[in-house]
Amino acid sequence: MYNDSIESELIGKEITLRVLVTGGAGFIGSHLCEILLKSKHDVICLDNLFTGSKDNIRHLLNNDHFEFIRHDIVESILLEVDQIYNLACPASPVHYQYNPVKTVKTSIMGAINMLGLAKRVKARILQTSTSEVYGNPEIHPQPESYWGNVNPIGVRSCYDEGKRCAETLFFDYHRQNKVDIRVARIFNTYGARMQPDDGRVVSNFIIQALKNENITIYGDGSQTRSFCYIDDMVEGLIKLMESDEIGPINLGNPNEISIKEIAEKIVTFSKSSSKISYHKLPEDDPVRRQPNIDLAKRILNWNPTITLDEGLQKTIAYFMDSK
Ligand code: NAD
Ligand code: UDP
Repeated sequence: MYNDSIESELIGKEITLRVLVTGGAGFIGSHLCEILLKSKHDVICLDNLFTGSKDNIRHLLNNDHFEFIRHDIVESILLEVDQIYNLACPASPVHYQYNPVKTVKTSIMGAINMLGLAKRVKARILQTSTSEVYGNPEIHPQPESYWGNVNPIGVRSCYDEGKRCAETLFFDYHRQNKVDIRVARIFNTYGARMQPDDGRVVSNFIIQALKNENITIYGDGSQTRSFCYIDDMVEGLIKLMESDEIGPINLGNPNEISIKEIAEKIVTFSKSSSKISYHKLPEDDPVRRQPNIDLAKRILNWNPTITLDEGLQKTIAYFMDSK
C-alpha cells in the first residue's frame, strides 16, 4: 500500500527504535503506526480516542511490537522512547470547535508535556503543525517564511493559534533546552480511515455521493484547497523525522483545486446521481490554500506522487467497502 521506496528503505534499517505516536488511533496516526511497524520499530500509540478509534488500529493490536495506551496528552506521562511523533489534536473544524478550550489545551499543554518528555529522555520529537498557521493567506502559494494572516479571536482560532503557539514552544524548547525538534506544516490530507462523521470535505462529499444525497458546498465553492493523499503524507513525515532539517517545513500536494471542482470529480468517480446544494460559508473559512513545497523537495527529496484522481478513487473504494 505504501510507496515502495520508503518501505524498502525502512525495512532495510537495522536499528529498532521505540517510537511514540500521539494521536496514533486517528486518521494519519494509524497509517503512520502501520508503516513504522513495517520498518520493525517498536510503536507506542497513545490516544484518548476523542476523534480516533480502536477500529483504526485493531489490525495492529496483536503485533508484539505495538502497544496502545489510552491517555490524554493534556496530562503528563512517563515513558522511555527514542522518537515522538506528536499528532494528538482534533483536526476537523467540526471536532476542534466542539470544545475549543480543550483544543487549545491539547495543542499547548500537550506540546509542553510531550516536549518535557522529549527533553527528559533525549528523544527526537516531531510536531504535526498545519497550513492553518497561515490563516487566510495573503501570499500564494504559501512558503514557510510567510508569517500568516490569522484571526486570533474567531471560531477557528482555538486550532490555528493553538498550533501556532505549539510551534513557538517547539522552537523555544529547542533554543532553551536543545530538544531535537522537527516541525511539519501539513496541508489538507485525505484517504482511508478519515472518520465518516468528522465533517471534512473529502469524506463528507464521498459519503453524500455514495448515498446519492445532496453534496453540501459551503459558500459558492470557489474557495480552494490542495489535497495530499495519505501515503504521500506519511512518507513525508518519516523523511522529515529522519532528516537533519528541523523545519518548519510544508508537507502537502501543491495541486490546487476549488471545492466545486472536487465535488464534481467525486460525483463522477462515484457514479452518483447527487446534486449540489449550497450552504452558508463558515466563519473565517480560508479563501485559498496551496503549499510551496520547494523546501521539502530539496531537503527531504520528497514529492507527492499520487494524483488527486487516483487518490480519490482509492478513497471512494475504501468508503464503499466500509459501508
Ligand atoms: P484525527 O482527528 O483523525 O486524529 C487525531 C487523533 O488525536 C485522534 O485519534 C484523537 O482521538 C487524538 N486526540 C485528540 N485529542 C487528544 C488528546 N488530548 N490526547 C490524546 N489524543 C488526542 O486527525 P488527523 O487528520 O489524523 O490529524 C493528525 C494530526 O495532523 C493533528 O495534529 C492535525 O492537527 C494534523 N493535521 C492534519 C491535517 C489533515 O488534513 N488531516 C492537516 C493539517 C494538520
Ligand atoms: N466544505 C464544504 N462542504 C462540506 C465540508 C467542507 O464546502 O461538506 C468546505 C469548507 O468550507 C472549506 C473546504 O471545504 O472551504 C475544506 O474544508 P475542511 O473542513 O475539509 O478543511 P479546512 O477548511 O480545515 O481546510
